[in-house]
Amino acid sequence: MDEALVTRLKGIYEDLHRHPELSFEEHRTAGIVTEWLNDLGLEVRAGLGETGVVGVLRNGPGATVLLRADMDALPLQEATGLPYASEVDGVAHGCGHDVHVTCLLGATATLVATKADWSGTLVVVFQPAEEVLQGASRMLADDLFEQVPRPDVVLGQHVAPLPAGVIGLRSGPSFAATNSLRVTMYGAGGHGSRPETTIDPVVMAAATVLRLQGVVAREVAATDVAVVTVGALQAGTKSNIIPDEAQLLMSVRTYDPHVRDSVRAGITRIVNAEAQASGATREPLVEDLESSPAVVNDADAVARVHHALGAVVGADRIVDPGLVTGSEDVGVLAAGADAPLVFWLLGGADPAHFAEAQGPEDIQRIAADLPSNHSPLFAPVQDPTLEVGVSALVAAARAWLEAT
Ligand code: ZN
Ligand code: ZN
Repeated sequence: MDEALVTRLKGIYEDLHRHPELSFEEHRTAGIVTEWLNDLGLEVRAGLGETGVVGVLRNGPGATVLLRADMDALPLQEATGLPYASEVDGVAHGCGHDVHVTCLLGATATLVATKADWSGTLVVVFQPAEEVLQGASRMLADDLFEQVPRPDVVLGQHVAPLPAGVIGLRSGPSFAATNSLRVTMYGAGGHGSRPETTIDPVVMAAATVLRLQGVVAREVAATDVAVVTVGALQAGTKSNIIPDEAQLLMSVRTYDPHVRDSVRAGITRIVNAEAQASGATREPLVEDLESSPAVVNDADAVARVHHALGAVVGADRIVDPGLVTGSEDVGVLAAGADAPLVFWLLGGADPAHFAEAQGPEDIQRIAADLPSNHSPLFAPVQDPTLEVGVSALVAAARAWLEAT
């Protein structure tokens, strides 16, 4: 790749990393993106889904390809000690979305510089608020696909603790669907010394948490995958006051809509039954908070991308990362466009950690011990992550944009 471009991209990456912005607050990042796309001569629309930016390059007849990067950072105190560590207290690019933005800027510049070699339409989407799983749907709500051409394929990548230079790609379900729930259980409070005069929501909630463990263990087939986690349980203020209510926050991960629906139904059934068992006089309130469908990679499109990425990193450096229980809202864009999706993992870990690896299983084992996304220590290396990330996006896009 062009040395001058790589140097500029590293500067942009370090700048973005120093100045992380939370979901829907990516104003500075969006400004940098807008300026870059304007300089390259794309049609640019900003402010889609609050802070999203889209660029379009119409370059003759042929397919329309959408390349997507997310822009937001996390409420996290960075502890990497990098010279370009976050300068914003309590906010950090701990998920590597700064890598995604940088690589897509580089890929756009590369495709513009080589536009005599291909024909078709390029749509680049810089999405806000992936971390809260709302950015993609907010862009659709702002009529994204009325404002830009509807793509024939949606492509994107996520940096992960695989070795830099390695790409993780699989066909079919890849990232889990997520459903967050808030459950409020109603008791009747009173003095801690006279529990017989109360309906204790603490006991009700505690019993519910334990019983919920049976949903995955007893109701989901061994051949299916699901996770039910109660991440928060809140009730009461003082040792001798029985409170009026208790609240549970839950996260559900699944890959199959049927499993998701049966797990959801199991949760409601147990919550209601435990409230009844406690003698509650009011039904619990079960509220659906954020959700996102599973990322399902299209088999035919994956075959095309696999071939294209093999030419970038070597076919033996594309590994199957297995099912990722993390979630992503990139699938919402593909569903909104009614287009196939291919979303891959971009290795970002220092290859030196993997010197002893003998094969793909060793890679997975070593990767599991490295600081992962959302860790305060997550620190992708710039070389060769950025270059590979740019080349991967360009090669995958060119698999649809016909050579002239
Ligand atoms: Zn994340
Ligand atoms: Zn992420």
